[in-house]
Amino acid sequence: MNGHFGGAGDDLSPEDYKHGVQIINEDKQFNENLPQYLQLENIIRAGFNYHIISVFGSQSTGKSTLLNYLFGTSFGVMSEQERRQTTKGIWMSKNKKEHSGGEGKAMAENILVMDVEGTDGRERGEDQDFERKSALFALATSEVLIVNIWEHQVGLYQGANMGLLKTVFEVNLQLFLKDSKSVPRSLLFFVIRDHLGTTPLENLKQTLTQDLSRIWGSLSKPQGLEKSRIEDYFDFAFVALPHKILQPEKFEQEVQRLGTRFREGYKDPKRAGLVDETAEPVLLPEYHRRIPADGFPMYAEGVWEQIDSNKDLDLPTQQELLAQFRCDEISKEVLIPFDEVITPLEEEQASSVAAGKPSVIAKLGLTMIAARKLALGSFEEEASRYHKGVYKRKQAELESKIDGRLKALFLGQLSAAHKSGVNEFSEAVSSAVKAGQKRDSSYDFSEIVQTEKKKALERYETEAKASLVEGTPWSDYKQQFNLYQKDLDDVSARLRKDEMRRLATRSERWVRNRLSEKIGVEFNKLGSGRAGSGAPAEGEKPKTEKELWDRVWSVFTEVVADAESSFTKRARSFDASPEEVEVGLWRLRRKSWGALRDKIDEELMEGNLLLKLRENFEDKFRYDEEGVPRIWRPTDDIEGLYTRARESTLTLIPLLSKFKLSGTSAPPPLDAWIGEPPSTVTPADEEDLHPIGGVDTEEGKTLDDEMTMISDARQQDLGTRFKKTADGVYVEAKRSAIGGVTS
Ligand code: GDP
Ligand code: MG
Repeated sequence: MNGHFGGAGDDLSPEDYKHGVQIINEDKQFNENLPQYLQLENIIRAGFNYHIISVFGSQSTGKSTLLNYLFGTSFGVMSEQERRQTTKGIWMSKNKKEHSGGEGKAMAENILVMDVEGTDGRERGEDQDFERKSALFALATSEVLIVNIWEHQVGLYQGANMGLLKTVFEVNLQLFLKDSKSVPRSLLFFVIRDHLGTTPLENLKQTLTQDLSRIWGSLSKPQGLEKSRIEDYFDFAFVALPHKILQPEKFEQEVQRLGTRFREGYKDPKRAGLVDETAEPVLLPEYHRRIPADGFPMYAEGVWEQIDSNKDLDLPTQQELLAQFRCDEISKEVLIPFDEVITPLEEEQASSVAAGKPSVIAKLGLTMIAARKLALGSFEEEASRYHKGVYKRKQAELESKIDGRLKALFLGQLSAAHKSGVNEFSEAVSSAVKAGQKRDSSYDFSEIVQTEKKKALERYETEAKASLVEGTPWSDYKQQFNLYQKDLDDVSARLRKDEMRRLATRSERWVRNRLSEKIGVEFNKLGSGRAGSGAPAEGEKPKTEKELWDRVWSVFTEVVADAESSFTKRARSFDASPEEVEVGLWRLRRKSWGALRDKIDEELMEGNLLLKLRENFEDKFRYDEEGVPRIWRPTDDIEGLYTRARESTLTLIPLLSKFKLSGTSAPPPLDAWIGEPPSTVTPADEEDLHPIGGVDTEEGKTLDDEMTMISDARQQDLGTRFKKTADGVYVEAKRSAIGGVTS
């Protein structure tokens, strides 16, 4: 006899199961190999499409023989000679005859038959314990309980069979104590053996029914169930079989006919309670225990353990425990293919983030939808057969586990799309600006930004849409989209600032060039001592010289005003804010002043200045009021002319030393003209600015210092050097006067 209790079932072959599987052995141990057996018989995946039938009855009443005839099983039977108990514990075997029902009626698929050790077994003596336990087990699991009985036992109310039935009924009431709704009805199918035919089946049936009612009446019923009738819990069916040895052919015929009744069907409500037609199907939906086949081994084991440890059998709890366990197992199973698809994506994402280059995963949405649908679909298919409450809870757990991971992927994807989108946007704008600059600098910055921003937003939205799982609450990217938009705006602002800088540089360069030209012209006028408005009055400095700084100031402010207005126009064209424009103009004025100072310094460089003074002097000394060159004669007052011209030119030195306006004799209002720094100025804006005396007062330089173009020491030095040059000119004039007389 093969036990296989707790062994590794994997190496078992069909040969090991030719007698079926002993699910509970004589030591009351449950066989761990039941799942392998159901696997072998292709029942494990059958869901609810299977049936369990048990047989009860006294020892050696031909139970195993009947089952073998009915279902083609190979349960051990007693040999005619030995008359010793054969079936020990509980055996189970699959129906081998399911397609061979007679009268064109095939038996139901996947019938599992349990052959239960007979009662009043001589070997077990007074051991009523197993009898009770196996009855409870059969009742908890089986749809149909075949009660096998000799015809001559019918009516023997005190007989062993009746004792067994009493046990079954008691046990049934015990089950109902827990939860009356969770224990389905069962069919008690009486098979009367060795029916001689003298007593009609109808009479036997009546006798049995009366006995059953009497047993039921004698039971002490739990509170609330006192009034219950036996028909409230059981259906009954009766069949009589001829003597197997005396009428072997008839016996086989009737068994064949009996076999056809093991098919699925529905109870006719018109005959409530009793299925008594001799050809009625016996496998009714209401008898089914609703334990999915893949959960049956576990359920049966749990039930048996509770029974065997004499605990109250609590089927609802058993079913919940089973559901929890199986749902967890199924979750794990469906997560395997899910992981195969999703884990590599998670790794890809994590490593791209770690590398600082978040990349967008192609077709993420489609992949996630497929993996999610497969996992949840398989789970539903397998797990929904279990306890509804548990199933729903486990389904929610699984869904939130799956969605948690998918959501993380989705968010990672959004952040990658965000980063790459911002980068691409920034690069696209920069390169379009560069191209524009190369062309003719007349590009429209704000149009470039608008176009690229629109593209960037569309790209993001497309990527987000292709990365979500429609219908899930987490597949929403509104907030992220807003953040993205805000970042694009920030980048735009930064790029606009760059553009402002470029504009500022261009404006400054323009100012510098204009000043170089126009201020140069003003200083060149110094070379002509009388240039401008005709002859000056005696003792008065030529007007043009005196007003040099007025002109410089007005040329300067005009040039800068021009630059300011085109700066403003341009900056506005790309939506620079009034504050940005304000800062830009403020910077432009300061830079322009720097440019002017540079130009003035250049004009006032020693060599340039001496040359100008000399030209100025010569112009005054060597030309008369009409601008005609003098031909010196000895009678001329060369000395007087020389002194006047020299003194006149010398007055230029202090004039040039200080930037002063003639009207006020004060420096130009540079501080007011530059203005207070705008409140939005940043340290970065000030970084490359030189301090200006009188404007940046904290520098310790005054406006007067700022306006000092030539220091006192240099003035002295210039005066001395100029006089030497003038003296040279004078000597030359003197010589030419004398020479003119001699010639
Ligand atoms: P179990 O202990 O109830 O499973 O009985 P078995 O199937 O092992 O059979 C016990 C004995 O009864 C065997 O010797 C069978 O040959 C014999 N037997 C089986 N079926 C019948 C039957 O219908 N009538 C009679 N009289 N004997 C039978
Ligand atoms: Mg037997």
